[in-house]
Formats: sequence, C-alpha cells, structure tokens
Amino acid sequence: MAIIKRNIWALFVLVLLGGAAVLSVSLAARWQTILSDEQAYQAARAELVGQAVESLLRTQELVLDVIGRELLRREEGLLDASRQIPLLDSILEVDPILRGFGLARPDGQLVRVSTNLDLDRLPNLLTHPATRQSFLQALDSPAMVVGRTYYVEAMDAWAIPIRKALRTETDEVKAVMTAGLRLGSGATVFDQVLHDGDSDGVILYRENDGYVQFMSREGVGPEQYSQVFRPESVRQQDRRLLEEQLGIPVEEVKARGRAVVLSTQRQGQSFVTAAQFIGRYGLWAISETSMAPLYRQFGAYLSGYLLVFVVLATVLFWLFRIIDGAERYRRAELLHLSRHDELTGLRNRPGLLDRLDELMAQGTAFSLVVVNIDNFKGINDRFGQESGDEVLAAFGRRLRSLVAKTDDLARLGSDEFAVLTPSAEPSAVEHACRDLARELAETFQAGRLRLQLTASIGVAIYPGHADSPNKLIRSAHVALYEAKQSRNAVCVYRQDMDLEYLRRLQVEQRLRYGLAAGALHMVYQPQVDAEGTPVGLEALVRWHDEELGDVAPSEFVEVAEKSGLMVPLGDWVLETSMREYSELRRALGAALGLAINISVIQFRQPDFVARVMATLARYGVAPQELVLEITETLFMSSFAQVVEKLTQLRAEGIRISMDDFGTGYSSLSLLRKLPIDELKIDKSFVDNILDDEKAHNMIESIVAIATSHHMELVAEGVEQKGQAETLVRLGCRRFQGYYFGRPMSMAEFRERLLQPDGCDH
Ligand code: C2E
Ligand code: MG
Ligand code: MG
Repeated sequence: MAIIKRNIWALFVLVLLGGAAVLSVSLAARWQTILSDEQAYQAARAELVGQAVESLLRTQELVLDVIGRELLRREEGLLDASRQIPLLDSILEVDPILRGFGLARPDGQLVRVSTNLDLDRLPNLLTHPATRQSFLQALDSPAMVVGRTYYVEAMDAWAIPIRKALRTETDEVKAVMTAGLRLGSGATVFDQVLHDGDSDGVILYRENDGYVQFMSREGVGPEQYSQVFRPESVRQQDRRLLEEQLGIPVEEVKARGRAVVLSTQRQGQSFVTAAQFIGRYGLWAISETSMAPLYRQFGAYLSGYLLVFVVLATVLFWLFRIIDGAERYRRAELLHLSRHDELTGLRNRPGLLDRLDELMAQGTAFSLVVVNIDNFKGINDRFGQESGDEVLAAFGRRLRSLVAKTDDLARLGSDEFAVLTPSAEPSAVEHACRDLARELAETFQAGRLRLQLTASIGVAIYPGHADSPNKLIRSAHVALYEAKQSRNAVCVYRQDMDLEYLRRLQVEQRLRYGLAAGALHMVYQPQVDAEGTPVGLEALVRWHDEELGDVAPSEFVEVAEKSGLMVPLGDWVLETSMREYSELRRALGAALGLAINISVIQFRQPDFVARVMATLARYGVAPQELVLEITETLFMSSFAQVVEKLTQLRAEGIRISMDDFGTGYSSLSLLRKLPIDELKIDKSFVDNILDDEKAHNMIESIVAIATSHHMELVAEGVEQKGQAETLVRLGCRRFQGYYFGRPMSMAEFRERLLQPDGCDH
C-alpha cells in the first residue's frame, strides 16, 4: 500500500497500460469477429449462388434430356430442313426460362428452331466465335454444356446458351440441342440482385476460358460483363494464390463442393473473396467484397472504444489527481509536523536545522540566538507539567511578539528556544539580546499563572563562529552555558569558551562515573579557639579522577549543581561525613561539632530536613553537634521558603552557618531577619587584614554584627600568625585555616587530636 501511495502515478500509468492492453485485445477480437463474419457471409453467398446456378442448370439439363429422348423417339428425319416441330414451341411454353430452342447438325448448322426464331439470322454454331467453343465441347461431352453469355440477335436478347448432344444408342451424335437461358425473365438466379452496394459483387466465370458468365455488381449488365474474361495467366495466378493461402491443391478445392475463402488484392484494394466451384458445368461462383466497408465498420468501433477509453482515462486521471493531492497534502502536513513543535507551533530542532541549511546555502551572515529559561524546572516541580506546558507556550508567544517578524523561531528543548536573526554584528546582536532579555524578564500571564521569568541567552554568528548547522548550535550552546555560569544574561560566543565548556562536560561525565565508582572521599579541617584547641571540624569533599587527576571541589560542585548531580553528591557527603564523624566521636568520647557544606540545590529538596534528621539518627549524632554551612545565593530565590526551612532546622537544634560572608549581596539589614547562628568571615578579608584597611574595617563591622545578633564568628583561611593575632584583637574567637590545620583525612585527624598539642602553630 505504501509503495502504491508513493508511486501513485506509476500505478496510474500501469492502469492505463492495462486498459490499453485490454482495449487492444478486445479491438483485435472485434476485428477478428468482423472479418470472420464477413468471410462466413461471403462463403455462404458463394455456396448459395453456386447451388442456385447448379440446380437451375441441372433442371434445364433434365428438360433437354427429356426433350432429346422424345425427339429421338418421335421424329424420323429429324434434321430435315424447314420442318416445324411443334414440340419445340411447346417446350418454350412449359419452360419460360428457355428462350428459343434449336437443333443443329454436328457441323454447326442450325436446322430446326422454335418458331420465335428466324433461322436465317442464326449463325453457324461451329464457326461463330461466341458459340464455337461450347459447341465443340457439347459434341464431346455426355453432359450439358453451358456456353458464353452472348447477345442473340435472332432473339434480340441476352442469353446463356446451353447445348447437349443427341446421341444414338451407338453413341453417335445425331444432332446438338441448343437453347438460350433467358436473362431478364426475372425467374432465375441470374436476374436477382445478388450484390450489396458498390464494393460488393458476385461473379460466375468459366474455368476453361475465363469468360464471365454472369456478374451481379453495381452498374454492370451483360453488355459489360460478357466482354470480361480472365486470361490464362491471371487464372494461374488465382490458382497459385488459392493453393498458397489454403495449402491444398486446386483440384482438391474443386472436389470439395464447399466454398473457400481467400483474401485478395486488386488495384491496390483488398478483398474478402469466397469461391465455390460448380464442377459439372465448369463454373466458379465468386462472392467478394472490398475490405473498405469492413475498415469503416471497424473504424466506428475503434472510435467508440477509444472514446470510452479516453473518458475512463480522464476520469481515472482526475481520481488519481485527487488521491495524489490528498496524499501530497498529508505528506506536507506530516513534514510540517515533523519539523514543528506541537506545544508552541514553532519549528523544532530538525526544523531549525533545515532552516540553518537553507540560510547557510544562501551564504548570508546571520545570528543564532539560543534563549534558555532560568530555573524552569522549578515551575514544573511547583505547578505541575500541565502548567509548565502553558508557561512554555506563553513564553513562545511572548518571544514571537518581541522579535522581528522576519526572524525565525524554534523550540530546541524543553525550556530552550532559538531565534534566527539576520543581524550579524556581535555588539549589535548582544545589545538587541540584552533588550530581549530585559523584556522577557517582565511579568506575564500564562493560563492562571502570573509569572516573572528570566532567561539566559547565548549567541553564535554565522559564518564567524561555525561553518555547519550543528556546530553553530553547539557554539550558541557554549555561549549560553557561559551566560548561565557567569549569571550574565547574554553571552556572545568566543573561541576560548570552548575549552571551558569542554572541561565542564568532561568534569560532568567523569563525576557521574566517579560518584558511582566511589572515587570521592572526605577530608576534615579543624576549627580552633583562640588558644588553638580544636572545637570543631569542617567536612570538605575531595575527588581524584583517573583521567582528570585532582579536581577542586569549587569546580566540580558547581558542575554537579548544573547537571543534576548535586543531590546524589550532597547525600553522599552527608552520609560519609556523618559516619566518619560518628566514629571519631566514639573514639574521642566527646562531641566536637561537625560543619557540613550544603548546596542550594540540596537545600531546595522538599525532604531536605527529613533527610538530615534521618542521617543524624542513623549515626546517633545529636542535632546540636551539626552545623550546616549555607551561602548567600540561597536567598536569591523564594526567601520565605528558605527562612521557613532554616527555622525548622534550628528548631531541631541544628545550627546554621553563613559561609563566605561578606562576598555576597546580603545587606546587613537582611541579616537581622535571618535565622543564622554563625558567620564565617570569608578568606578574602582575612588575606588582606594586615595591609588593607578596608578589609580590616569590614572584619570589624562583621564582628560588631555578630556580637549584636549573638552569632558565632569563624574566621576562614587564616594562614599566618599575624592574621590570627589581629583577628583575636578584633574579637574573633574561632579560627580555621592552614595556620591551624589543613584539611586531612579522618584517620589523620583522630591521630592529631589524640596528641597533646593538636595544632600546627
Ligand atoms: P568553603 O566552604 O569556604 O571551604 C573552605 C575552603 O578554603 C576549602 O577549600 C579549604 O580547603 C580552603 N582553606 C581553608 N583554610 C585555608 C587557608 O589557610 N588557605 C587557603 N588557601 N585555603 C584554605 P576547598 O576544600 O577547596 O573547598 C572549596 C569550596 O568548595 C568550599 O568552600 C565549599 O564551598 C565547597 N565545598 C567543599 N566541599 C564541599 C562539600 O562537601 N559540599 C559542598 N556543598 N560544598 C563543598
Ligand atoms: Mg565551608
Ligand atoms: Mg568559605
């Protein structure tokens, strides 16, 4: 079926050829029927004429026999001149077909004639050229002889002479009876119109001399046909033709007593000819017709058939056209569907690739702008898939309304769109994209939801940034990735982004593998008091990869956050550090306090609190011993929810520490509202505390805030004695840094703790 659909016109041609074949076969059959009907007709006519002529002549021969016997019996001195014989006249009355009757001596001289004839005007039958042949024959033959049709002046009429010799018992010819078969009496086969139209005719001709005895043809009478004869050469040809066509000798045909049919040619015309031989009288009855009327008849059929065929073919053609049209439409629709996104009606990825191919073939420069909605996953999680779809559709419409009408739009992935714009100058495109990002960030309505979404945009320009559609999309993605990383809404591709991108991809792939293969481990960095006595420890994750070597947590944690690996990684950290800490605690016999870094992604897990509590319970660690380190980025979204979760954690007794404090955006006024137990002064301030007044002042302020809000304070990254002393002077009571101890394995940590002086300085 599929093949037929694809080759609908091939099928049409096939049907047409089939139709033409059927037409040819039926036309051939029709022609055959016409021809064989005609042949049968001609044969029947030849036979009929033959039979009619033969029976006529036989009857006449019978009459002559009877008269002859009578004359021989009755008449003495039969041939005495000028003696009337009344019998001769009475014969004419009895047999109206006969016109005149006479008796001739064997020397050809007529001696007795019926009274309607004038003996003096009659020729000598042996010497007259028209009668000589048949007269001689009659002398020779025991049967009746038919002579050539000729005009008998004495009778003033056309007649066919018949002669029969009167023989004595000793077979001696006494006389020859001669009579004329009257033409025009209306009583014999010779007076009937046997032909049918111009091209048709019946002929009776003599075999021995080729003279035509009788002819029924349009406009031809005895005057004409009595002069016609077929010379010996032509008759030979006839015989050859007959033998060739029938494959049997002429003699056999003659003996057969039935008509034979031939096709003959004459004067450039073809004929169907039937021939029947009347053996007793040596006559051929020929019935023939020209092929022309047959051709005409066939022509009429042909045109009728052709008309039907053409009409059917036309109807079929239109039918196929309709089917083909529908099929084309369906295919176009399928193609459209396969190249467009159902949800937004925009092009999909293959659709975009098609368009990119087109544009690249034209060779003009253009930009591919990839727009990715920030944190779209949150919308699906929070409002459900259906609402998410509504938002995407609405976002698609918004994008359509914001870009130029001539720009092509596509949806590349779940929350990713693409714009193809003819602008190809990097700074101009970047500028336009910034406007776009700003406009997209405005509140909009999607179904029942009123939303404010931001989007990140990556731009790649053809031909500058890639030479193929896939490479161009990839370059735009690299730029988009960069935009997401740098939290800078718009990024135009640069070559150096590739390396970073590749590195991240590699880190992501290896981390996925590493997590499963147990390639990660935890180290712990001590936190000490002003006397240098360990009061806690911070758990820090480490990863050594076979291919990449040591990868810094700052790098792979970020990759994990962006690739969905953060939750399993965070769980693993929580689990491992809690287990190792519980072992340390058992060995020490005292609680020390464990700080664990928590990623935003981890924190956002709906069951985060429950998970932490379950882990604590599993290892028998009191919530009061646990510090969770969070960063300010956590407050960038859903502030109220974060505060609520923090409050829950604190209610359980877990303490919250604000890591890297001072680097983020949290205003000091905001800090007041936050349920925080501890601030960790970022290493960057500690680094500069000795020679940068600003850093010094900043630390002073942080100390003041911590004191006023009753928060613990930890100074991070203390590397020198001087730094530690200054921090102590400023009022800091807890420290962490290489000066006091580097991150180390739990075993190492335990060993050092069990020594009397556990710190480096
Ligand atoms: P952080 O939480 O601020 O951790 C402190 C970082 O400073 C650690 O780097 C630590 O090795 C380093 N450090 C401590 N004292 C000194 C010092 O005196 N001098 C210098 N130069 N560095 C010092 P690390 O382990 O490379 O971790 C970097 C960041 O990676 C961490 O910053 C934290 O944000 C993240 N991180 C590490 N482990 C984890 C983890 O298990 N979970 C999560 N979510 N994040 C982690
Ligand atoms: Mg930390
Ligand atoms: Mg820190």
